[in-house]
Amino acid sequence: MAAAAHALETVRRRVASAEQRYGRPPGSVALLAVSKTRPAMDIEEVAVAGQRAFGESYAQEALGKIAALAHLSLEWHFIGPIQTNKSRLIAKHFQWVHSIDRLKVAERLSAQRPHDLPPLQVCLQVNISGEKTKAGVPPEQAPDLAGALMDLPQLKLRGLMAIPAPTIDTASQRVPFQRLRMLLDQMQQQGLVLDTLSMGMSADLEAAVAEGATIVRVGTAIFGPRLPR
Ligand SMILES: *Cc1c(COP(=O)(O)O)cnc(C)c1O
Repeated sequence: MAAAAHALETVRRRVASAEQRYGRPPGSVALLAVSKTRPAMDIEEVAVAGQRAFGESYAQEALGKIAALAHLSLEWHFIGPIQTNKSRLIAKHFQWVHSIDRLKVAERLSAQRPHDLPPLQVCLQVNISGEKTKAGVPPEQAPDLAGALMDLPQLKLRGLMAIPAPTIDTASQRVPFQRLRMLLDQMQQQGLVLDTLSMGMSADLEAAVAEGATIVRVGTAIFGPRLPR
């Protein structure tokens, strides 16, 4: 087995054993393979090993790969900062966007989503660790932003995404993930129909699964260290 396919298998086992250890139903956590900076060839290798969903952070870089791999019918998730001048490309070529943190961007994506395509599946990115430099809506503003998104016809709000500040041990990794889950619970209790918690990466996916992640976004553990852009 080639290196990336072997690494994919290892990550799948990590997800499955975390599901088991933390009492999550088997298969309840989806794996998003984060392929930013990797060439189409690497993605194809992982796709051939059975992975369907891939995450990209840079619209321009992703476009070439999406075109090159069109024959594989992969599912593309945009997970990076959304530049206004790239929103049309994102609305057209991706099935999911995890990184919405402003109403303006959401409105643009909805308006620019082609009408012959199903609504874009989206998550709100929440600045769960309250870092000054991080993207994401402050947690206390998430319910109002979610409410506003419900009115946009070409977006389907699925849930919340976060990238917590890195910490070392599982116990402290779980704290911000638990906070994001409690925010989702609160929004569900307010009547919003949401089913997605996009949280957990190579270094902390077990902690995220423990706290209820439904999508983990894993890059380096599958593809190896990121390449220079
Ligand atoms: C790069 C990236 C990941 C993957 O991180 P790894 O540590 O390589 O697994 C996940 N989520 C987002 C938003 C990213 O930008």
